[in-house]
Amino acid sequence: MWNLAVEQLAHWQPGRKTAPGFVEQSRRLTEARAENPWLKSYSITRDRADRWHVAFPVAPEPVPAPGIGDVVGVDRGVVVSAALSTGELLSAPTLRDTEKARLLRLRRKLARARRGSNRRGKVKTAIARLKARETDRRKDWVEKIGTRPAREFDVIGVEHLKITNMTRSAKGTADAPGRGVRQKAGLNQGVLANGWGQLVTRLEQKAPGRVVKVDPRYTSQSCSACGAADRKARENEAAFRCRSCGFVANADVNAACDIRNAAGHAVAARGGPPLGGPANREPQHDLFLVG
Ligand SMILES: [Zn+2]
Repeated sequence: MWNLAVEQLAHWQPGRKTAPGFVEQSRRLTEARAENPWLKSYSITRDRADRWHVAFPVAPEPVPAPGIGDVVGVDRGVVVSAALSTGELLSAPTLRDTEKARLLRLRRKLARARRGSNRRGKVKTAIARLKARETDRRKDWVEKIGTRPAREFDVIGVEHLKITNMTRSAKGTADAPGRGVRQKAGLNQGVLANGWGQLVTRLEQKAPGRVVKVDPRYTSQSCSACGAADRKARENEAAFRCRSCGFVANADVNAACDIRNAAGHAVAARGGPPLGGPANREPQHDLFLVG
């Protein structure tokens, strides 16, 4: 099966354009599939970078829970890709500076290239290849990052986040005013760019039943040390300063701690053992659990 896949890949290198070839290959594969039902389960795709992929579905192995009752909160950061309640700040890889410069040059070229010209097609493919490289790096990153919380913590709290909803609510509502439209707009871009959704999906696969989703409405405004909700505590994109208890932290880490606290309370509310969270925390008046 693997050899077949490799053969397919080798056959379908970029530059091979003849459509009948693809049809022929598909036909042969369909025949092979009929003869070998266990081949029932692959897919062949071509991405925008003109690369062919043969994909076999492999569900990631769930990671066993450590069983020590620890909770971690993971927040998609404004400044970084993800912040953990442990204080760790994680940044998803992007293109290198030289690659970014090349991308810029290619985009200028594209703007000058005539529609429908060969040159335009080549430039487009080159751009897609650069972007695919970035996507690959990010997938790799998500893979590595997703495993550790699943292995080291029993419960992983994340924001319940629908990226489309977030985009829509950039200006905020009367209940939850936005933190600043410009800032939020940048965040939205970051959420999409940093593959937050991929990370959450991976966490759920690696820690099935151990991921708790927390309503994100107030997580960035509440003090994770005393629980006070204070819209002005988030001084800027990077710093959180509580005016009730004086707690100071990286704003993304504070939000991750809020998520950890809420996730711990959610588990306790379901009848589980009380997990994590500060002892002096007020009753949950500001965090609404949704999942
Ligand atoms: Zn406080």
